[in-house]
Amino acid sequence: MTVQRTQPIINHNIGTAVGTVRLQEVRISAAKKLPQDVSIKGVFACNELDLKEVQVYGFDYDYTLACYKPSMDYLLYNLGRDMLIQKYKYPGGIGNLEYKKDFAVRGLHYDIEKGLLLKLDSFLQIQFGTVYRGLHPVPDDEVLRLYKNRIIPIAYVEAPHKHSHKLPQDVSIKGVFACNELDLKEVQVYGFDYDYTLACYKPSMDYLLYNLGRDMLIQKYKYPGGIGNLEYKKDFAVRGLHYDIEKGLLLKLDSFLQIQFGTVYRGLHPVPDDEVLRLYKNRIIPIAYVEAPHKHSHEALHRTKMVQLADLFSVPEMGLLCNVTEYFLRNHIDYHPEILFRDVKNSVKNCHPVMHQMVVQNVSEYLEQNKDLKRFFNRLKEANKNMFLVTNSPFHFVDIGMKFLVGDDWKDYFDVVIVQARKPKFFTEETRPLRIYDEVNKTQLWDRVTKLEKGVIYLEGTVKQLQDMTGWQGHQVLYFGDHPYSDLADVTLEHGWRTGAIIKELTHEIATLNNPKFKENANWLQMLTGLIEEHQDFEGPDVHTILDEWIKERDGLRNEIKRVFNKQFGSVFRTYHNPTYFSRRLFRFADIYMSSITNLLEYSTSHTFYPRRGVMPHEYTSYFV
Ligand SMILES: [Mg+2]
Repeated sequence: MTVQRTQPIINHNIGTAVGTVRLQEVRISAAKKLPQDVSIKGVFACNELDLKEVQVYGFDYDYTLACYKPSMDYLLYNLGRDMLIQKYKYPGGIGNLEYKKDFAVRGLHYDIEKGLLLKLDSFLQIQFGTVYRGLHPVPDDEVLRLYKNRIIPIAYVEAPHKHSHKLPQDVSIKGVFACNELDLKEVQVYGFDYDYTLACYKPSMDYLLYNLGRDMLIQKYKYPGGIGNLEYKKDFAVRGLHYDIEKGLLLKLDSFLQIQFGTVYRGLHPVPDDEVLRLYKNRIIPIAYVEAPHKHSHEALHRTKMVQLADLFSVPEMGLLCNVTEYFLRNHIDYHPEILFRDVKNSVKNCHPVMHQMVVQNVSEYLEQNKDLKRFFNRLKEANKNMFLVTNSPFHFVDIGMKFLVGDDWKDYFDVVIVQARKPKFFTEETRPLRIYDEVNKTQLWDRVTKLEKGVIYLEGTVKQLQDMTGWQGHQVLYFGDHPYSDLADVTLEHGWRTGAIIKELTHEIATLNNPKFKENANWLQMLTGLIEEHQDFEGPDVHTILDEWIKERDGLRNEIKRVFNKQFGSVFRTYHNPTYFSRRLFRFADIYMSSITNLLEYSTSHTFYPRRGVMPHEYTSYFV
């Protein structure tokens, strides 16, 4: 028996406007459609699991094999209560307190400081009305006062719409997609990263970085001159891949840390599945391989053997890494994958100043024009929003780019401009002074910064100084960046800012989703999987032959669907049926995400973005059946 997940593959519909009169009809017809019952005897899949491959069944005992009657709860309660009195000398009066069946559910959090029992969602937000002190709920306003943080109601009813067509509707390339509820009315301050957030680069940028990095490998690191002939291979890699620095492999992981078969590359060649299994002894990579247990522990960093390339500037870096590996393999040159990785990384990083010079000299060659950006900034100004820029790039580079994009007056839009911010340190370090940049003499000043002035350019600093000097509170700030870690993770987790991710790849991914042939394939894949799932336990003469054919067809379809996104690595967001490692991070740290910052022009400045109410594996197949 293979357990499949039953969620639809494509469900990126943007709500369509419906007139008031029709809305009633739509509502009535939607109200009639109730989902089927869920089987109490069901087994629910979070991940694909083929029982044929399972040779060994292992079991826990308590509550796995042995299920206890409610009398067990009473027993534990009574024994614990009596011990409180006898051993810990609690007042004898509590001996009269009887166990209240069905008061609490599993999975709650207890605030050991405030003495509250409460329920948190996957974004660590408190659910209103589920905060208890003793047997009494704590009123919402008191919860707000106690936690000083915004609470977002997760209650959300999907807008009813008819499924009259067999194939899903097109997804808008200009859409803004919500992972978490976000009300723009509550956002007072808009913050932006620069590179790949406001400034989008043309493919010529990838070639430039690749060529500069390759030449530096030869000149500075004395790599063989032959690699000078290796040209950049456009569309070879995608963002978010992992590089195994020990084994020298580039590969794609899903959110369960499973390797997607067929996406493991040594140089320019795929590594066969059986070799991958031999190398890793498992499809699942141990977490210590990928993630350091404590974020800032440098000791732990040394134990991780894989690095994720989550930056758009790292796409040409991966291209260089694979080309040079391929060159070494072909010419039978012995190399150390980790040394190669460090050299390539440093070469591409160190050529950034040269890249900056080249872009400054010929900005339109590298930077994508976006006429909507000025319109977007004007709209924020008209709505009396504050704006700031925090970028790692140097001033002369940002200045030329912003003049090209917005005009000579670009600084007038921003209340604060901080360059060379050294993110993620800008968001994580406690003390690092903010400095003033002297635009005329192109140098930094030694003066102490005590207040932030509009029109002045600042360097370095920390987010703490920015917040202290402006008084901007975490939840009023919406910060946009393209990097799931250095732009989004810390500001969400440490500072409670709201976040928007600019994911350029969405343009290509959505165009692929909207292709009718792709829709047909994705739809058929879903139906075929359903057929296999339903009929796999049947007995009969031809059943196994037919099922095997179906499974083969399904494998073929899955590969076809993968290849249309990127021939080598498939979609940035999906492995076959799971979100990628990259998506998991993105969905966790971004409240909203979109292909371009100016997609927000499609929505008002008081718009509320609602996340789709996702279907969990044990819930109904779909809300509209
Ligand atoms: Mg950036």
